[in-house]
Amino acid sequence: MVFVTIIALLIICTCSIYLIKSFETDKKRGWFEKLIMSVVVPASSVLIFLTTINILSCLTVVQYSKQLWGEIPAQYQYSILMSPTFSLHPLYRTIFILSPQLFSDTKFVNFEQSRIPKEFMRRVVEETLPKGFVFNIDKIEFVDYYVPVNQEYGHNTHIFPPPKMSREREPGVTYILAGAKANKIIITKLMEIKSLSEITRIILHEVAHTSGPGQNRFLIVREHIELVLKLLSRIKSSDRYHSSYVEEISNSNALVNNSNKITEYFAEIIEAYLSCKTLPAEDEEICREIIYKMDPSFNVKDAFQRRMLIIEKFKTGRNAGFLN
Ligand SMILES: [Zn+2]
Repeated sequence: MVFVTIIALLIICTCSIYLIKSFETDKKRGWFEKLIMSVVVPASSVLIFLTTINILSCLTVVQYSKQLWGEIPAQYQYSILMSPTFSLHPLYRTIFILSPQLFSDTKFVNFEQSRIPKEFMRRVVEETLPKGFVFNIDKIEFVDYYVPVNQEYGHNTHIFPPPKMSREREPGVTYILAGAKANKIIITKLMEIKSLSEITRIILHEVAHTSGPGQNRFLIVREHIELVLKLLSRIKSSDRYHSSYVEEISNSNALVNNSNKITEYFAEIIEAYLSCKTLPAEDEEICREIIYKMDPSFNVKDAFQRRMLIIEKFKTGRNAGFLN
């Protein structure tokens, strides 16, 4: 993001100088120069200032945590440093959080083919999650095929040949119920055999991924790095939140193992926090801090109550019988 900003600023400056030079009459030049001096120059200066602070703070964080930072694979480091950051400064995110129409109906794709009611999904997402989390989701799509678990997690020994997505299930392969990649969530056929409460739990986990390190558009790069380092220290702590899903991740490459555990640990603690489960104090602090950034007015207990009411409502409607 910072590099894109610098390149954009260089292009703007070059174009402006070129345009000023290309004006022939003094009258036109005067008007254009005024515009450049009153809008482009101050805006560019602010952006350059914020970008410089951002780069310096990243370097400081990495410098002080060199040893920890080295425990993350280069690929993951790269995705964090190049994270799709919406804002160069935390102040900007408030504008996006406050903006209306954060989510639209069209972001739920293909649910007419699923037994999971689209309206149920929509209400859980839109009415019970922090606003910034909702904003980070590009799409929630139902896919009518099976997707095997990421081999890197070591949850199964079967070597699945590419392409990664399968139309049919193969014996001996573990499949995912739902997954998230690059701010898109997919819900697979397997999720249809779950209860509404279980579906909700899984949705919270997947939504957390779209607001996790490397994905969350509201965090500046320094915040991405700090979050990763906090999570890295948490997955190694003896008092960590014990989720069997995270504990079972096993990859012989220690760096890949760390990255995957960080990703899943974040999703698991956010799911637990939003479900009002008890978490170790440090994990609770991580969740509280990030949720506050995503939605300062979010009340986790109220949201939990609302979610329970929505589940209750859909349990007894036309869905009674196969989803409960
Ligand atoms: Zn996950």
